[in-house]
Amino acid sequence: MILTDTHTHLYSSQFQEDRSEMIERAINVGVSRFFVPAIDSSYTQRMYDLASQFPKHVFLMMGLHPCYVKPETFEYELKHVEEELAKRKYYAVGEIGIDLYWDKSTLDIQKLAFTHQIQLAKKYKLAINIHCREAFDEIFEVLESEKSDDLYGIFHCFTGDFTQAQKAISLNMKLGIGGVATFKNGKIDQFLKDIDLKHIVLETDAPYLAPVPYRGKRNESSYTKLVAEKLAHIYQVPVEEIARITTENSMAVFGI
Ligand SMILES: [Zn+2]
Repeated sequence: MILTDTHTHLYSSQFQEDRSEMIERAINVGVSRFFVPAIDSSYTQRMYDLASQFPKHVFLMMGLHPCYVKPETFEYELKHVEEELAKRKYYAVGEIGIDLYWDKSTLDIQKLAFTHQIQLAKKYKLAINIHCREAFDEIFEVLESEKSDDLYGIFHCFTGDFTQAQKAISLNMKLGIGGVATFKNGKIDQFLKDIDLKHIVLETDAPYLAPVPYRGKRNESSYTKLVAEKLAHIYQVPVEEIARITTENSMAVFGI
């Protein structure tokens, strides 16, 4: 069984003490493909280090996280993203998007950064990995205006309703499903079975959003398996089938 964690912050300081063991633990339960989203330029070196330590398992994305789009620095940060994409192979542009939970005052520059990075993804023929928090309308507005055959990717940590799920799918996006699907009040578990598995990829968003029974604790990539087991229950198919389909979906998105 090959499981793919399509969104994991392996470089997080929360893994400082046991990073290699944590990654080995995941590989040992079948989670052997890790897609690592960028946040801002301060993490780039740590991402390089991870990719050279685990070249067969770790695949990097490049992008500027919406919560790090600040008036003083975003132009410099976008330049960094641009330079990195020109310099080495990345497998997606992410995580990018809009977050109105933490800061509404930066909406204008968040939109600007999101749009600019979508255009970079198109230029390099890469998928995008979307971070959306309390911003579905704003994100859909940008996606609609940039809509084209070469715009595709993943709605990371999808938390919307059924209509928003259908809308995301119609815009060439897969839904990144993680720990929230295991929460009692997570809501997505109620309509997920009505979404074809071909639109689903798995993720942890480690070290955040650990699935049940680790809710509230540090999340790690090995828990991708718990999300797969939850989906096996929802879709009433063997967990191996969930692994096979979601890994195939991840290959289609990332090209590896
Ligand atoms: Zn993330």
